[in-house]
Amino acid sequence: MPLFLHNTLTRKKQEFIPADVNRITLYVCGPTVYNHAHIGNFRAAVAFDVLFRLLRYYYGEQAVVYARNFTDIEDKIIRAAQENGKEIDEITTKYAKIYNSESAALKILPPTLEPLATEHVAEMQSIISTLLEKNAAYIAEEHVLFDTNQFSNYGALSNLNMDDMIAGARVEIAPYKRNPADFVLWKPSAAGEPGWQPPTKWQLSGNGRPGWHIECSAMIEKTLGTTIDIHAGGQDLRFPHHENEIAQSACAHDAPLSRVWLHNGFLQMGKDKMSKSVGNVALVCDLLEQWPGEVLRWALLSAQYRQPVEWTDALLEQSKTQLDRFYRLFTEQNINIDSQKPDSEFLNALNDDMNTPGAMAVLHGLRDRATRQTGTKKIETLRTLKASGILLGFFDADPEEWFKQKTGTASFNLTDTQIDILIEERVTAKTQKNYARADEIRDQLNADGVIIEDSANGTTWRRK
Ligand SMILES: [Zn+2]
Repeated sequence: MPLFLHNTLTRKKQEFIPADVNRITLYVCGPTVYNHAHIGNFRAAVAFDVLFRLLRYYYGEQAVVYARNFTDIEDKIIRAAQENGKEIDEITTKYAKIYNSESAALKILPPTLEPLATEHVAEMQSIISTLLEKNAAYIAEEHVLFDTNQFSNYGALSNLNMDDMIAGARVEIAPYKRNPADFVLWKPSAAGEPGWQPPTKWQLSGNGRPGWHIECSAMIEKTLGTTIDIHAGGQDLRFPHHENEIAQSACAHDAPLSRVWLHNGFLQMGKDKMSKSVGNVALVCDLLEQWPGEVLRWALLSAQYRQPVEWTDALLEQSKTQLDRFYRLFTEQNINIDSQKPDSEFLNALNDDMNTPGAMAVLHGLRDRATRQTGTKKIETLRTLKASGILLGFFDADPEEWFKQKTGTASFNLTDTQIDILIEERVTAKTQKNYARADEIRDQLNADGVIIEDSANGTTWRRK
């Protein structure tokens, strides 16, 4: 079964056929870097990491070019810098670095390219100049605005007509707009705010900075090309962000921006949408204190990407228990996957618009089969199981280390080194036939959530 993806633009699940099998282009709108990311911010990154892995598997690692930007100039960043008395790039560099290390913990592969908005201002200005020349943009009160009346397909992606957009008050009303849906391509910078000199032909009086939407169009053109294969992002970006990207790129280039559009569903905190403005956020840095990144990834992928995910402690505990079951099997024997192919049913599930819960169900089935099997049959199943899991970004931890990780909200007092020292002391006590002390150490470890197992090869330990 070939890869099928649900294209938001056509509202259909369609077979994915790249324009050029030797250069498949994927763009995902990246984070605005000014504070710690919450788990909802990572849903798109994890969902489309699965797509990146799948495309690399089918077309080869070199053939897939994946760009994900960093928004490093924006009102919220400027405010954060002013409030903290810091330089803007000090803030953006810090949080981009944190974002990347948290991505690595969640087993997200680094994208091929990570363009920065501030490094593409000239490209943004060039698109804006083209739009002005084509009368698709106009200048009003020191702003450059896109004239949505000049793009007849405006609203096609989100399936909204102009009245819906205005009635929903989802567009910013401003006196200098010809039409409420028109959006800012360039705006003036106040004193003390970062700004770039606009081209003289725009006849603006001072420095300014780009509006948000134009940056993606400029970075896509520069890094991937005029028309790309797949553009993806959260469903909240469909309107106005993606609608605006489409309008300005299509008018500037007389070509569509992307052939396929994918949108992931929300992550909900219980029944509510997780959002900074509501204050019900779970920061990834806090979650990683309690859970391995792989558990967060498993939880995020437990729902198909277009469906909502309800983020609860129970989901995390369940994800950890499920991963434990796989890792317990892998502790029994060292599985070398070499050139082992993933399971075909597993691939079929992923090919069906990245049905990750379906793919995970196949993994559970393989695990059950391996549990019942013995000898070479069992090893073969384990190899298929591991190769499948690895494709999805799981099972690459050392199984023994996996069970030593701290998890959940339980607080553990003993460090790994202290546990190792106590276990050594217990071995010595046993060889000296001091069984009372040996039992005492076992109880002490147990009380701290550490389970020890004695075997012919020595003593191993794991956390409950
Ligand atoms: Zn974007």
